[in-house]
Amino acid sequence: MPFTPLGLCPALANAALEHAYSSPSEIQRAAIPAILDGRDVLASAQTGSGKTAAFCLPLLDFLQTRPRTTPRQVQALILVPTRELAVQVGETLRTLSEHLAHPVKLAVLFGGISINPQMLHLRGGADVVVATPGRLLDLLDKNALQLSHVRSLVLDEADRLLELGFADELSQILALLPAHRQSLFFSATMPPQVELLANAILHEPLRIDI
Ligand code: AMP
Repeated sequence: MPFTPLGLCPALANAALEHAYSSPSEIQRAAIPAILDGRDVLASAQTGSGKTAAFCLPLLDFLQTRPRTTPRQVQALILVPTRELAVQVGETLRTLSEHLAHPVKLAVLFGGISINPQMLHLRGGADVVVATPGRLLDLLDKNALQLSHVRSLVLDEADRLLELGFADELSQILALLPAHRQSLFFSATMPPQVELLANAILHEPLRIDI
């Protein structure tokens, strides 16, 4: 099966095939084994390279193979610059996790809509959160979720997160995460601000340039 040599459990390797991926893309071949190994990753990857599945598959794999906490605590946090990207990443997670033995609780959080349904949704806990930084901080302010059990952080489109002026929000969020965690940066471009943030946050990352 084309995805099992990367180290994914059979359920996730099957999910990738069901999602109509016939074989792993270049970034998936490079990133998935490293993420499953617990390494930090700094990847320069364009939209269209398959980067979303490159981090979603191993994060979901972890949730299938390790016991979940009770009550459910956020274990993976994916920060994105825009509502559109939040919806897109949420959709990929939803479809890849559709037929898994251990259902994954997902929360997709972004601004521009009422905060109340998001607060209500978070009352049931979540394993994976996809969020834009501003709305995530608003929800943290309201104690709607906690980030003290996060084991993997993803910055998707890190260059756009900084271009859109989220540097302060990112440092506030980073301060709430456990120091011992995995961090994964995906960015279409690598301007100096992204390199600086990556140097400050990532621990001996695997660099991937696609
Ligand atoms: P992304 O780079 O994450 O924005 O993904 C771009 C598109 O590629 C999405 O529509 C995915 O469904 C698709 N895709 C991701 N991985 C693969 C793969 N291994 N084979 C074929 N298509 C893929």
